[in-house]
Amino acid sequence: MISLFMLSVMGIITSFWDTMKLILKYMQIHSFWSLGFQNDSPPRTKLRFLEPDRVIPTSVNYHFTRQCNYKCGFCFHTAKTSFVLPLEEAKKGLSLLKDAGMEKINFSGGEPFLQERGHFVGKMVQFCKQELKLPSVSIVSNGSMITERWFKMYGEYLDILAVSCDSFDEEVNKSIGRGQGSKNHVEKLMKIRKWCQDYNVAFKINSVINHFNMDEDMSEQIAQINPIRWKVFQCLIIEGENCGQDALRQAEKFVISKEDFKNFLNRHKDIKCLVPESNEQMRDSYLILDEYMRFLDCRNGRKDPSKSILDVGVENAIKFSGFDEKMFFKRGGKYVWSKADLKLDW
Ligand code: SF4
Repeated sequence: MISLFMLSVMGIITSFWDTMKLILKYMQIHSFWSLGFQNDSPPRTKLRFLEPDRVIPTSVNYHFTRQCNYKCGFCFHTAKTSFVLPLEEAKKGLSLLKDAGMEKINFSGGEPFLQERGHFVGKMVQFCKQELKLPSVSIVSNGSMITERWFKMYGEYLDILAVSCDSFDEEVNKSIGRGQGSKNHVEKLMKIRKWCQDYNVAFKINSVINHFNMDEDMSEQIAQINPIRWKVFQCLIIEGENCGQDALRQAEKFVISKEDFKNFLNRHKDIKCLVPESNEQMRDSYLILDEYMRFLDCRNGRKDPSKSILDVGVENAIKFSGFDEKMFFKRGGKYVWSKADLKLDW
């Protein structure tokens, strides 16, 4: 190490960066042997130390199905395929992610409870908690298919359940397409909230602010429901999903301006659990895996897939994820997400 500095001072190595690279190399060689054999710290820590630029999939969103029973006009993960990986393949991919440093998995869709009436997602939730021992396992759902029986079978393995709700006015939900026939979305939301309380699962609400609900004041109902987090998204346009020729939705009429979004946030500024996400905060700050376990890169305003982690491994696929880790931390992507650490105060 000292000799490296000496070489630098003597002008043999001219630039500061050359010196830094050599020091890093020195640390890599020596740390590998010492850290690798002397302690049992997780590989994630070692890899981060050895390769500072390496992306760790700390929190992953696995959209394992694109099928859904709702028809939200702004949906940006639409039913372009009906493919779902067989359970054993999905488990293999989840294990690879765990080995690469995943701490939180979120199952999303489409509607996660459509596949095998919730048993498919239930088995993955159980596997991730029981076998992989992940600190946090969560689901985002529209809520329509969830039953109390599901909570009895799988509730203990689930940390957080997020249910989408854009309005407490059923007519507004209908205009958006959040609904199915005569079923009341808000009534179901309240039932699920109760089951979360009974089965000790943290309850979260996700709302997409769009042209139809941007003037609503949801403060009273949110305060009454008291979710651990209320995620408030600005309606997002993604080419090939909800805009453009090949898209299954045309969401232009749902889009709102930055100003409209700001007004909505101001109206709800007293709600402590509100976590806002503008288009800028949202676009590249999620690690998204599609139904083939390919990372989706949203940097160009569309979803460009990597190769599947099942074919090329996590490390190779994640390079094409377009993931902005700084924005992930800036938008509060890392939070207390394990129910073991959450004080569920109902
Ligand atoms: S519930 Fe979600 S996945 Fe289903 S249509 Fe609406 S936004 Fe899309």
